[in-house]
Amino acid sequence: MRLYLITAILFCLNMTTAAQRICATEEYVKNNFKLRTTAPSFEGKLPPRDTVPNEIITIPVVVHVLFKTSGQNITDQQILSQIDVLNQDFRLLNGDKSMVPAAFKSLAADSRIMFCLAKVDPDGRSTSGIDRKYVAKDYFRADDDIKNPAVGGVKAWDSERYLNIWVCNLFGRALGYATPPGGDLAKDGVVIKFDVFGTKGYLRGDFNKGRTATHEVAHWMGLKHIWGDDDCGDDGVDDTPRQRSYNFNCPSFPRYTPCSPNANGDMYMNYMDLTSDACMNMFTYGQKNKMRAMFALGGLRNSLLRSYQCDASLATAGPLPQDTIPVVVPADNISVYPNPVVDYLNIHSKELQTLKGKVAIILSTAGKPLFQQVLQSSDEKIKLGHLPAGIYLLSIGDETGKKNFKIIKM
Ligand SMILES: [Zn+2]
Repeated sequence: MRLYLITAILFCLNMTTAAQRICATEEYVKNNFKLRTTAPSFEGKLPPRDTVPNEIITIPVVVHVLFKTSGQNITDQQILSQIDVLNQDFRLLNGDKSMVPAAFKSLAADSRIMFCLAKVDPDGRSTSGIDRKYVAKDYFRADDDIKNPAVGGVKAWDSERYLNIWVCNLFGRALGYATPPGGDLAKDGVVIKFDVFGTKGYLRGDFNKGRTATHEVAHWMGLKHIWGDDDCGDDGVDDTPRQRSYNFNCPSFPRYTPCSPNANGDMYMNYMDLTSDACMNMFTYGQKNKMRAMFALGGLRNSLLRSYQCDASLATAGPLPQDTIPVVVPADNISVYPNPVVDYLNIHSKELQTLKGKVAIILSTAGKPLFQQVLQSSDEKIKLGHLPAGIYLLSIGDETGKKNFKIIKM
């Protein structure tokens, strides 16, 4: 009996740690989100218009890939696979819609919202809609630092014309988070961890179908979690049944809890629950209407109806440059003195690691190595007294990079 209990507890622990989806949106909103107080500006923009019933709303997207390692610098194919998933899930074209239980089938809706990678950046440069930036940070937390260049982040593109998606190494267990509509435009958008983005590439088992982005983008359009972030809470949508709390992994139908309105129980397969990617497959008509209302006249996402940033013909410059992982060169804080030199040349660095193990080579102006010395500390001397007066080159570095100095010998 005791062994059974321990096994059961371990099993439960495993279930909650290994596969549980963690969405940091609720926490982010509590700690960081403020509604903006300024009215939208239409300066230099087309006048607003209302949505047309049943029109397909297409949202230009920029994906900012922030990477420190090559693994975090996910491929174009991985990014395109995520755009495909968004277009399937928001259009009810997902192959797994057949898994919606019969009791909920009539509620599954095609939102008629689509996504395209931007072809023009805010400065008119042509782009693939993918913005790659090398960052020195190991990870980002679920706050606004990722959007702030002053602390190592990457600035949002005009949020009235683009959906900004930042892909990065997110700290801890959070898979993603989103800003709800109506906040600071400089912080507006969605952040997703690199190993749960798209369907191709290195992805985590339970989160390899791109549903983290589907869930977070729906938050960005104003949807709440299906349990209303409260015990038997309300998500503000009429056709999603009230449920006690979130579900995770893959429950089986029906999943009945004390506040279920009827025997059909929880709608655990809704994208706004926290089940595994393979087990979520629908938005309801009520959710569709709530999202589309954001784009209507006066809605907080209305400006996107007048954004044509996926039209390549609008580009007037380009292309947008892309980062790669930089080659490490010795830091610029190496000083070499005196110069001109008579006898001993001093090489100094503020940091020991900058010089230790590097090779200092004295060369003629024709590039012929004359002698060399392996540096051991941040303060070294090289004897040049025996050299004839003239100009020499000093090269300090290793296979990853070199720094050169011109030396005058008196
Ligand atoms: Zn969420």
